[in-house]
Amino acid sequence: MEKQMQLLRELQEIDAGLDQIRDTQESFAPGLDTIKEDIALLESAGQEYQQELAAKEVERRDLRDVVERLKGLIAQSKEKITQISNNKEYFAVLKELEHNQKLVEKQEVELLGLVEEIDSIKKQMADNDHDLEEKKTELAGKEKEIAKQVAALERKIKAGEKGRLKKTKEINEVFLRRYQRIRRRFKDAVVVAENGTCKGCNVNVPPQVYNNLLKGQELLSCPNCQRIMVTGGKDKDGK
Ligand SMILES: [Zn+2]
Repeated sequence: MEKQMQLLRELQEIDAGLDQIRDTQESFAPGLDTIKEDIALLESAGQEYQQELAAKEVERRDLRDVVERLKGLIAQSKEKITQISNNKEYFAVLKELEHNQKLVEKQEVELLGLVEEIDSIKKQMADNDHDLEEKKTELAGKEKEIAKQVAALERKIKAGEKGRLKKTKEINEVFLRRYQRIRRRFKDAVVVAENGTCKGCNVNVPPQVYNNLLKGQELLSCPNCQRIMVTGGKDKDGK
């Protein structure tokens, strides 16, 4: 029985080690998620810049057309005015000319502003693309690093599982099933009982049960928490 208890404790140690390796493996994913979220944000920002830029380009093209058309009208008026002899007609054409000149000045200022806006969007786009490239490089680097670590951990898990299998073959099947069932609830399925107390839940074990445990003739569970109890410490030495 003592041998079986010892084996169960050893099995628990192997399982705890395996759990730890698996937890380490799982802890890698969240780190990548943050970078992936950053990349998604930068990508959608890039698309927004592109749409904004396209809209501004259309605006600029339209405004340029308007300016060109006005300049044509102005040229026409200037041409016309040299050939007018009638005063009334002269002032009418002059008025139109001045009106169009003012208008074209205004539109050209607007056009200039639009060109500046477009340049600014292009610059922001370039910065965004640069950040995106950096994040992608960071992600690729981390993925590579993690893949390496995961592979190393997987080798450890395989070795651990091999050791585990070997260990379980030495353990009584009924005990093993009991251990596995309890371990679904408590990671420490096997606990030491000392001075009449279960160290898993820190509740006193009924004296009769504790005495039976010290006799070491059967595998006993704590009546309170159901963990498998093994003897250890000074009680065992003093037995
Ligand atoms: Zn207990």
